[in-house]
Amino acid sequence: MSGWVSASAGTMPLVLVVPHGGDLSPAVLPDRGCTGCETANDANTQELALELATAFERRVGRRPFVVINRLHRRKFDANRERIEATGGHAPLDAQWVLLHEQIDSAKARALRVHTRALLVDLHGHAHSVARLELGYLLSAGALRLPDSTLTPLVAGASVSRLSAQAVSGDRGAALVRGPRALGTRLAAAGYPSVPSAGDRAPNEGDAYFSGGYNTERHGSRAGGAVDAVQLECNFTGVRDTPASRGAFAEALVTALLAFLGDHYGWPASG
Ligand SMILES: [Zn+2]
Repeated sequence: MSGWVSASAGTMPLVLVVPHGGDLSPAVLPDRGCTGCETANDANTQELALELATAFERRVGRRPFVVINRLHRRKFDANRERIEATGGHAPLDAQWVLLHEQIDSAKARALRVHTRALLVDLHGHAHSVARLELGYLLSAGALRLPDSTLTPLVAGASVSRLSAQAVSGDRGAALVRGPRALGTRLAAAGYPSVPSAGDRAPNEGDAYFSGGYNTERHGSRAGGAVDAVQLECNFTGVRDTPASRGAFAEALVTALLAFLGDHYGWPASG
């Protein structure tokens, strides 16, 4: 059972979680039969996370903590509460507990590297607009509000802690779509992103993932010193081929290092 989750230790205040890229479908497990449950994987996200970890190591000699659910989503959904995650198959309860223990452990260890940390829940989407979607537990409707109205809502988002303590001094809406926001950094690198300075919110009717179970449970809305963002990657040019993944991993390393530097003060200068 422990082989169904892969956890590797890191040396920087960043935790990568990959819930929907699993490649194992053990015959001993029934397919999840719950009505309306999603069973399609987020293709190539496991490969993307490994590429990203390697790119960090090459660039700064540090690795993120990485927790990968190895089970195919047909068998287990690692971004849902327990019943939907397991499809009600009680023997998988222990797997669900183990997965979240591994994430909790990675978070705790990341906080020994630095006083605060960021968790990225890495996904892939198939929505019609080809752009990255960053989910902070702020709905599309909330993001369509002006900055002054959005700002107080960020205190209840998955970057709640950051909204009070970012060393940049950025607060509220600036953290999710200001010049130093993660989406803005990624857009500047050639990967259109929402929210970002140039694409402030999904339009009415656009499909958009605002953040799911892991982002709620493991981000700072629930307290603690680890913020979270759900990063939903479009397919073409981002995660479709090894070349795409390699190039995107480099851009993501640059953006995440800037984000950690600007807002978390990592690595400490001087
Ligand atoms: Zn997903």
